[in-house]
Amino acid sequence: MQIIRNRRIYDVAIIGSGAGGGMAAKVLTEAGADVVMLEAGPMWDPVKDSYMFRWNYDSPRRGAAIPTQQFGEYDAAFGGWTLDGEPYTTAAGDDFFWFRSRMLGGRTNHWGRISLRFGPDDFQRKSIDGLGDNWPITYEDMKPWYDETDRLIGIFGTNLPFRNEPDGIFLPPPKPRCYELLIQQASEKLGVPCVPSRLSILTRPHNGRAACHYCGQCNRGCATHSNFSSPSVLIPPAMKTGRLTIVANAMAREVTVDENGLASGVSYIDKNTVRDNHVRARIVVLAASACETARILLNSKSPKFPQGLANSTGIVGKYLTDSTGTGVTGFIPKMMDNHPHNEDGTGGAHLYMPWWIDNRKLDFPRGYHIEIGGGRRMPGAGFLGNIHAYTGVEASGTPIAFGGYGASLKRDYRRVYGSTVSFAGRGEMIPNPDSWMEIDPRVVDKWGIPVPRFHFKWSDYEIKQAKHMQETFRAIIHEMGGTPLSPMPTAQQNYDLAPGGRIIHEIGVVRMGNDPNTSALNKYCQAHDAKTVFVADGAPFVSQPDKNCTWTILALAMRTANYIAEQRKAGAI
Ligand SMILES: Cc1cc2nc3c(=O)[nH]c(=O)nc-3n(C[C@H](O)[C@H](O)[C@H](O)COP(=O)(O)OP(=O)(O)OC[C@H]3O[C@@H](n4cnc5c(N)ncnc54)[C@H](O)[C@@H]3O)c2cc1C
Ligand code: SF4
Repeated sequence: MQIIRNRRIYDVAIIGSGAGGGMAAKVLTEAGADVVMLEAGPMWDPVKDSYMFRWNYDSPRRGAAIPTQQFGEYDAAFGGWTLDGEPYTTAAGDDFFWFRSRMLGGRTNHWGRISLRFGPDDFQRKSIDGLGDNWPITYEDMKPWYDETDRLIGIFGTNLPFRNEPDGIFLPPPKPRCYELLIQQASEKLGVPCVPSRLSILTRPHNGRAACHYCGQCNRGCATHSNFSSPSVLIPPAMKTGRLTIVANAMAREVTVDENGLASGVSYIDKNTVRDNHVRARIVVLAASACETARILLNSKSPKFPQGLANSTGIVGKYLTDSTGTGVTGFIPKMMDNHPHNEDGTGGAHLYMPWWIDNRKLDFPRGYHIEIGGGRRMPGAGFLGNIHAYTGVEASGTPIAFGGYGASLKRDYRRVYGSTVSFAGRGEMIPNPDSWMEIDPRVVDKWGIPVPRFHFKWSDYEIKQAKHMQETFRAIIHEMGGTPLSPMPTAQQNYDLAPGGRIIHEIGVVRMGNDPNTSALNKYCQAHDAKTVFVADGAPFVSQPDKNCTWTILALAMRTANYIAEQRKAGAI
């Protein structure tokens, strides 16, 4: 195998350009480091490449999913659950799904922008209920970095009177839509608080970026840079320093080390030429998304580190978690025959429901928050596909019966358009010994790189949580006078708890801690085994609170990158 070796030695090589990689690049280049960023996907510019202003009917497929854009052909996620030539495997009897976006900015081009800080309890849960582990850092350690992330990126929301939902530095939230107010009325009657969302979308001009003009298409990437993505917010200032070199279509294979066990660079496949390359760097930051980062470390075997890098105690790959998730959609007859009205807004819900119950009253630990949906969104492929399932009574008292053909079907579509609401829970999983990843000894991808094999099992804790979610969502739908569009799932169906990975919050496989026997990284996300190797994505997380993970990936990556900058200045690395 001929390897093309670059002579130049960079200060830092960053693998991945998503939330973690983008933040590390911004901080490190602004601190004076020469950085090379390896990105497995192509370059992507939201201004030129976003399909934000396309109608679904512009496409013969009406915007339906295609293999390379599995959330829809106008969506800004290049990739999905399967990637051509890049398999992964799951252990017999286990289910795990691995979502990957391959493009500059990774999944930050598409993500939901739900940007929740973890709370003080979330970092120290073991001290509260004895389960899992505490983080080696507290909320107070993270608070300045969350504050700085809020200031840099911009986030709307409100401060709340709940101890474990910390205050932020918020732009004003947008007004709730009509259906959101109806949900709020019903949920609050049941004692479930429904409050303004916290989304990283600009409701005011911020740091030179325009305010959102409420087109509602955030998942297609924002051509006006009004929401957060790495290519909108983090890559441009890093480029402006003149110290960032991006190598696109560069698939990292392994981190190389010198005879002292310090990082010497990264070997990667140039996907354009399908040749092996090597880039030299004094420090390596892995931010390829949690499971890919663990894969690269496990594949980085050398005489000094025969089990892989940062893995002398065999920890890399352990403690894999995803958020719990299940959902219900309900048909609300009183919202039928609605007057067309303005529901414009951001590409996410303007209200959500944070966790509200004291666990001592429940038969499961930890909690979940509720994401809501509904309204008159742009129709696409599959629009109102199961209209025959809508049941209830007309205002006249006659039973509702929809479906059929031609003019009557079109009339029914118009009548029910915008009369459904949906609820999705996102909750905390406790790490368990049956959920982890390793390298499959027999399978390689199309470049010959060994692939991950996943093991995944939910415990009773998460299954009981899903039951509680289902009961809560159905109670709110009934309180609104509506009917759930699906029957209550059974215990045999795990109460419709989504399989591992499906919520796309997979984290925790290279975790941080004070004890090198139970963690791969120290409290600065620096490998215990190799002081010039750092991780800046979700892999270092010790637990997966009910809050979506990305705001903490960003804040932690900012903290890690600042630490690297300080250590460089002090000559310690
Ligand atoms: C549909 C959807 C909705 C979501 N909604 C939310 C939400 O509302 N709130 C929330 O907090 N989170 C949400 N997420 C999750 C969020 O997108 C991720 O947590 C976040 O993007 C993770 O950042 P990252 O830097 O770890 O990885 P990514 O953003 O995935 O970036 C990783 C980058 O590394 C590159 N890469 C991978 N392997 C290699 C390699 N070997 N060599 C070189 N480069 C490589 C990839 O191409 C990619 O660009 C959502 C995700 C999806 C898909
Ligand atoms: S809703 Fe706002 S932030 Fe989202 S894509 Fe449209 S303009 Fe951009």
